[in-house]
Amino acid sequence: MKREKDLARMDTMGEGNTSRTASTDVAGSDRPTTPNQKRHEARVEKIMCHCVHFTGVQHSACEAGIAYADARGAGKLPCLREYADGATCDKAQFPTRDEAEAEYQAEETMYARHSLAHRAAHDDAKAKRFGKGQGGADSLPCPVCKTGRLYYRVAAYNGHMHAKCETDGCVQWME
Ligand SMILES: [Zn+2]
Repeated sequence: MKREKDLARMDTMGEGNTSRTASTDVAGSDRPTTPNQKRHEARVEKIMCHCVHFTGVQHSACEAGIAYADARGAGKLPCLREYADGATCDKAQFPTRDEAEAEYQAEETMYARHSLAHRAAHDDAKAKRFGKGQGGADSLPCPVCKTGRLYYRVAAYNGHMHAKCETDGCVQWME
């Protein structure tokens, strides 16, 4: 679930920001000022508001074994501070600032990996004139793990790509 959430987030973030380095964002200043610092701060605060056991209410219970149906009241959910509205949960545990920062960095790394592979595969497909109306499949050396091959397929009917690196745990996506 976490991975799906991260990927969904990637789709809304656009591309071209892989060079940003969050670690320098807050150095030497107490208040976020640049757009990247504000985005960083907002994301970290959001992470800190979500219980570490939360998996999404499409599941029946969280990682601490609490059934969402029991935990939630009318329109309330203690797992997410913005929806808690006074509701509480004995098992609720919110990330510390350091934990949230670590989570943020992991997300950034994942986003950068995805973005790099996405761009390389699309460049490769474009060079081979694959796209809407002319589907095709091929592979290229994976720019992320640098050891496996990144296989992709472009659907003729909409030009969307499915891609997966052969290395376990490396990048994959469906558009
Ligand atoms: Zn790879």
